[in-house]
Amino acid sequence: MTIVYKSTRDEKNKVSASQAILQGLASDGGLYVPTEMPKLHLNFEELAKKSYQEVAKFILQAFLTDFTPEEINACVEGAYDEKFSDPTIAPVVKKGEDYFLELFHGPTFAFKDLALSILPYLMTTAAKKNQIENEIVILTATSGDTGKAAMAGFADVPGTRIIVFYPEKGVSWIQEKQMVTQTGENTHVVAVKGNFDDAQTAVKQMFNDQALKAALAENNQQFSSANSMNIGRLLPQIVYYVYAYAQLIEQGELNNGDVMNVSVPTGNFGNILAAYYAKQIGVPIDRLICASNTNNVLTDFFQTGEYNRQREFHLTSSPSMDILVSSNLERLIYHLTGDNAIQTKALMDALSIEGKYQITPAMSEQLTDFFADFATEAEVEQSISEVFAQTKYTMDPHTAVAKNVADKFAVATDTSNKMVIVSTASPYKFPRTVVESISGEKSKENDFELVQQLETLTGIALPNEVKELETLPVRHTQVVAVDAMQTAVEGILNLSTN
Ligand SMILES: *Cc1c(COP(=O)(O)O)cnc(C)c1O
Repeated sequence: MTIVYKSTRDEKNKVSASQAILQGLASDGGLYVPTEMPKLHLNFEELAKKSYQEVAKFILQAFLTDFTPEEINACVEGAYDEKFSDPTIAPVVKKGEDYFLELFHGPTFAFKDLALSILPYLMTTAAKKNQIENEIVILTATSGDTGKAAMAGFADVPGTRIIVFYPEKGVSWIQEKQMVTQTGENTHVVAVKGNFDDAQTAVKQMFNDQALKAALAENNQQFSSANSMNIGRLLPQIVYYVYAYAQLIEQGELNNGDVMNVSVPTGNFGNILAAYYAKQIGVPIDRLICASNTNNVLTDFFQTGEYNRQREFHLTSSPSMDILVSSNLERLIYHLTGDNAIQTKALMDALSIEGKYQITPAMSEQLTDFFADFATEAEVEQSISEVFAQTKYTMDPHTAVAKNVADKFAVATDTSNKMVIVSTASPYKFPRTVVESISGEKSKENDFELVQQLETLTGIALPNEVKELETLPVRHTQVVAVDAMQTAVEGILNLSTN
């Protein structure tokens, strides 16, 4: 069975898996989606005995049908090795009644590592398969975690270059330090005077700028994306939902066939879309809990069928979810229309022109798999402090959003299904909120002092990679206005665009 990928905005734009990964974003502005789901026999009694790497090979082979088994093996083995501090890669930890799927044991301490440690391997393999000689320039907007994880993956990978844009005032101190100290001659980091949505929109425009594309080609270069707009980022995220269910069986917490719910702290809608795809291929997930912070555009969408990005933007303690235009929702919308590219394009055009769109009642009816709600800043702090008091478990603010909304779901639905809370970042990435929530006091200390307090409070060993951030040399200092992002790219790449 060959899985073909198709643009959400143009029925006729069909490519292989490797071409979809290379392009990142379709040239019509749409996103690539699988035209059908692979028909898999998920034998969870067997999968329960398998390692993360074995599950990853099985799932990725089913989706990436133009990759050979040898290629998939090499990609998986290169990605999921000792870079991860936990040999199981994505452990499931029971605390109280909840199961935390910990996705932060990778090199940059957030769940982005699960996909971005493998994407460079998939990308360079795809380039070879398609006889691409051009240098691949990864152009990426980050809300804080993608940027570092992508650079960690692509640094000094031959044949690639990476440019990361992050919102100047929109990331945590640790996140910023991680990025501006990044080594590797092929890495470039630029702060933007704007928010993540501004940066993501400008990046999407550069992808679709034909003159820019031609200038790159003249330089023997071409763009690709490390954002979750790239299907090569999304597919590796399906793996940990399969693995989590298998682990719950292995631990005796679930019987084969029992359903579980998953609560996913959501920003760009990538992680929860991976859960949706996992359900489509047969993982027994009952409800998908879409958990937002006060940038609750998705909560309103699921409750009313209207997506309206015209609203106040809030900087919160969970900055990686400070997003009003959730790119990957386009893929869900496309599926809700019955894979109708014309209808999807019309809705996305309305979003960019009018700032909103309304889905039809027939589309809304298909949303029963989802439950959506949001957590306020005070609720995030309260959840961190309560969970710590009750179980001594330390949640980062993103995970706390998922836990808070999972609790709201439990109250609203009276379910006895097991709840998996997707735990997306290490508390060490966001020490201020965590320390202040647990201690109940505002702190005047700087973030570096706070990470040491966090170690004392929680007993979780302070990772060396965080400790050394204070003294590592800063290598990237460029700051630009949103409308100067393209000029910055042209400068970095020495392009002549006239
Ligand atoms: C990126 C990120 C999210 C949001 O994930 P999406 O796939 O964008 O919905 C949540 N938590 C953390 C820590 C992140 O880095």
